Amino acid sequence: MFESILIANRGEIACRVIRSSRAMGIRTVAVYSEADRDALHVDMASDAVLIGPPPALQSYLNIDAIMAAIEETGAEAVHPGYGFLSENAAFAERLASEGVTFVGPPSPAIRTLGDKIQAKQLAATAGVPTVPGYADPIADAAEAARLARDIGYPVMLKASAGGGGKGIRKVMEASELEEAFRACTSEAEASFGDGRVFLEKLILKPRHIEIQVLADTHGNAVYLGERECSIQRRHQKVLEEAPSPFVDPEMRARMGGSAVDLARAANYFSAGTVEFIVDADRNYYFLEMNTRLQVEHPVTEEVTGTDLVEQMIRVAAGEELSFGQDDVTIEGWAIEARLYAEDPARGFLPSIGRVARYREPVSGAFGTSKTIRIDHGVNEGDTINRHYDPMLAKLIAIGDDRMQAVTRMRAALDEFYVRGVNHNMAFLGAVVADEDFAAGNISTDFIGDKFGSRFDPTEVDRDPEPWLVAVAGAIHWRRISRGSRLVTRSMDDQVIPGRPVTLAADWVVMANGRPFPVELAEAGDGVEVRRNGQTYVVSSDWTPSRYIFKGTVNGEPVCAQYDSGSVGFRLTAGGYAAEIQMVSPRAAEMIADIPDRGASGAARNIVSPMPGLMVSIDVEVGQEVKAGDAVAVIEAMKMENQLIAERDGTIAEINCAPGDSVEVNQVLMVFEGG
Ligand code: ADP
Ligand code: ADP
Ligand code: MG
Repeated sequence: MFESILIANRGEIACRVIRSSRAMGIRTVAVYSEADRDALHVDMASDAVLIGPPPALQSYLNIDAIMAAIEETGAEAVHPGYGFLSENAAFAERLASEGVTFVGPPSPAIRTLGDKIQAKQLAATAGVPTVPGYADPIADAAEAARLARDIGYPVMLKASAGGGGKGIRKVMEASELEEAFRACTSEAEASFGDGRVFLEKLILKPRHIEIQVLADTHGNAVYLGERECSIQRRHQKVLEEAPSPFVDPEMRARMGGSAVDLARAANYFSAGTVEFIVDADRNYYFLEMNTRLQVEHPVTEEVTGTDLVEQMIRVAAGEELSFGQDDVTIEGWAIEARLYAEDPARGFLPSIGRVARYREPVSGAFGTSKTIRIDHGVNEGDTINRHYDPMLAKLIAIGDDRMQAVTRMRAALDEFYVRGVNHNMAFLGAVVADEDFAAGNISTDFIGDKFGSRFDPTEVDRDPEPWLVAVAGAIHWRRISRGSRLVTRSMDDQVIPGRPVTLAADWVVMANGRPFPVELAEAGDGVEVRRNGQTYVVSSDWTPSRYIFKGTVNGEPVCAQYDSGSVGFRLTAGGYAAEIQMVSPRAAEMIADIPDRGASGAARNIVSPMPGLMVSIDVEVGQEVKAGDAVAVIEAMKMENQLIAERDGTIAEINCAPGDSVEVNQVLMVFEGG
């Protein structure tokens, strides 16, 4: 076994690899950029080497700098994690030429499978079903049009070198093809330096189901079941689970067999993932093979009881797999949610800044058994910067069955408290609160169909649950009754009781502007909230300094996040957030008399949420737009991001042009009217 391993990555996956290496008694070497001096992975490793300035090209993608770190520390092997150099065949070859072991597959397999066209051809040769289409580079738009007509619309254009959801375009009808071909080719050229594009049939309402494979250097190969990753946003995975609610043992065996066939055809070893797209009739078609550890590998680990990082390291050290296909069993259910520092209300743009509060859900909250796992890469106080992927953590909920895992995921998301940067926790909460999600009725269109391109938990068009209204009342009661019972200590430590105050009983809970009249009263240790003839007894040891409200309503456990504001407070639970204002019945009447001023609170300007490059402007001066309309595209963090109008109005000014570099908070457009 190796004595030391260098981890050529950062964030949660570097921490993850360090954890398994350490458990195996292997010394770990972290590398870090100047932006990551205080990062968690640097703290966790036995040794750490600075490899360059913040931009990834000069640090985490800088092969020379990493080779120097290997030289300096004597590391015997390198684990690349995912992203960065993980699928870079030249890096694997460079390591081999210097006698260092790459903890991953052989470089010819990386090269072949990293090219979607070659991979698809190899899959077809190995007898693996592939998406009907045309697996050769397409010369020009005219050829694309001809092929698309043969295949039949709708079709999908794909960059052969693509990855990470980039370089993919749906083409619904012939009129869209020419522009889509141009855009796809240029995106592929710009992002991957390789403009080759191919074409395949668009599978409608598909599911993304992938097979984890593991192979050693002695000719043994097994599959470790499937993961379903259909909950995606713009072709990028958001939630993943194992097993898939759509797959039965017979289908698992067929898909697993196909995946192993492809791995064998590629002379593969190490861990790898064969991705399939599955149609409504359970036909599965090969999409691509990822020649690395996948972001969502933990769900497979949890249901198979395998440590995939450990297995990769053992295979790299030349060990034979210690188990065969018949030893692989799937037990229980695991669901992973990717927590990102991003702003769903602004079309999911990355959110940059300091993670002022990072409090994970209390792991013991569900009893002593193992029910949640959190793979994280940031600490409280860390900064999310524009150079890297803004992932905060992966939250994995584990249960005996799917519903138990879903329930635990819901509870853990309600309790996971992160402030300082915006994040997608409430959005994830809304996804897992959805009935179709709970029933397993999902497809890759799920998020687009249900949520569109943005999400604001305060704009969810429904009344708060009765328990949340009750909790709002109880919180208010605690805030005012605490004030009324204030006791003061005098200099000689005499207790001076506060003057008794009679608290008003009638209040109106204004939740996102909707009125809910309640009557509040003390009830033993709790607060009694009466509404519409119903009584809710709220019990909790909550005090206003706590950001998680936990307690019971009529004996049922509840949990909501509490943020105190200047006028009222905000409660967040289950993918829904209520801006609460507690007012007297008289004040509520007056508020109701004020004419609705519409979206007057929304911004009059569209500002750049982050530094970036203007790619396109989709509106012109004088044009009318509606709240939610896309008005421009800005490239930041190597991603194209849509800017969305927050209000209805007319564009009065546009202060930027495509190609401009823009700064954070720069005013890009001004509205008039509204
Ligand atoms: P997974 O199935 O492991 O989630 P993803 O496609 O989401 O695979 O990619 C995992 C990580 O690697 C992400 O951080 C993604 O941005 C990055 N990534 C994968 N392929 C590429 C690529 N060709 N170019 C840029 N980033 C990539
Ligand atoms: P990447 O390398 O970016 O991960 P993939 O080929 O794995 O690219 O595709 C990413 C996602 O795009 C899939 O998970 C799926 O949602 C969608 N997709 C890809 N090909 C098709 C297709 N032929 N029909 C429908 N959806 C597809
Ligand atoms: Mg993929």
